[in-house]
Amino acid sequence: MSAASASAEAAEPTVAQAFSEAFGTVPSGVWSAPGRVNLIGEHTDYNGGLCLPIALPQRTYAAVSLRPDRRVRLRSVQSSQTYDLGLDEVRAGNPPGWGAYAAGVLWALEQAGHQISGVDLMVDGQVPVGAGLSSSAALECAVAAAASDLMALDLLGDDGVREALAAICVNAENTIAGAPTGGMDQSAALRSQPGFALLLDCRDGSIAQVPFDLAAHGLSLLVMDTRAKHALVDGQYAQRRSSCQDAARQLDVSSLREVAFADLDDALGRLPDSVVRARTRHVVTEIERVRQSVALLRADRMADVGPLFNASHASMRDDFEISCPELDVAVEVAMAHGALGARMTGGGFGGSAIALVPVERTAGVTRAVIQAFADRGFGTPDCFTVTAGEPARRDS
Ligand code: ADP
Ligand code: MG
Repeated sequence: MSAASASAEAAEPTVAQAFSEAFGTVPSGVWSAPGRVNLIGEHTDYNGGLCLPIALPQRTYAAVSLRPDRRVRLRSVQSSQTYDLGLDEVRAGNPPGWGAYAAGVLWALEQAGHQISGVDLMVDGQVPVGAGLSSSAALECAVAAAASDLMALDLLGDDGVREALAAICVNAENTIAGAPTGGMDQSAALRSQPGFALLLDCRDGSIAQVPFDLAAHGLSLLVMDTRAKHALVDGQYAQRRSSCQDAARQLDVSSLREVAFADLDDALGRLPDSVVRARTRHVVTEIERVRQSVALLRADRMADVGPLFNASHASMRDDFEISCPELDVAVEVAMAHGALGARMTGGGFGGSAIALVPVERTAGVTRAVIQAFADRGFGTPDCFTVTAGEPARRDS
């Protein structure tokens, strides 16, 4: 267990207190948004496909007050880098570092036509950073929730406005932070419901809530944060994205979502490049695995999702080539010690794997994974169980 699993209740007074110490006043309120773990459907979002994230119990908290001017002062309990800038200075690449995610949301709200003012803001995040659990969207969505309430934008009401707010946060991450991510993370943080996985159709932004009650099935979802390096802003993610665009262009479709699973072999036969072929095979089969997972969960057959996790991992390892030795070992060892299924999750090249494990086998799987990492000279992984938590909200 890690600091990431600290109780949600504990972080609220901490962030308000940190705000007071930094700015010398009491914040107007505290807002929070969760990290997410994607159950299945990886690198499908920017292909107009399907994905199935849950909101994590781990959240990022933001204590915020409005300012009467257009200055933005940003602090984080997790970072020594502080910011004091004008809203008009926010643009692609500025501010650099973590401030881009927070200031970027204010910028994107203004771009969307909302009336924005400056803020004083203190962040305290429980979501491990760079672990593939989307601390970046948790940060954006906590800031967005605060701005919505404090500036009376009314973007936290029904799912329709939350969808609009998610798009604003995506714009902030894409444009200001320069990370070409799809829409899954922000949707998970804003549109999830506790006890349900979020089926997100990235072609039209529609969602469905899919039952995900682990305890009722005697199962746990184990997150294994490998702590291996992972950076979405580097070139690999963009390369995968552009391979998928190449494939869609060659197949004369608007996105790989338009390639039906039944037509996959035919489509592959029309792609001369073996790498582009493999990328396409991953995306099309992965979207099909999301469909099958959802059908099984709706039929109350959660344990049967396990083999789909394994097939998903193999596809990411072999066809999409986004795994790494740490992720492969976590998956293999979890399976060898009683997991029903395991796969890497998130953007890849490090970060976290997940395993669906009978509750009584969870401690054994955790011990075995930690031991296997030690035996191979990898860093110590952080293993913790999660359930489907709450979306962005006002806390106090
Ligand atoms: P992930 O979203 O998987 O955690 P990213 O690389 O997308 O990884 O986002 C991580 C970045 O988000 C960090 O490098 C930092 O800039 C920012 N960030 C997230 N949480 C915090 C926080 N609590 N305080 C400061 N910055 C944060
Ligand atoms: Mg991220």
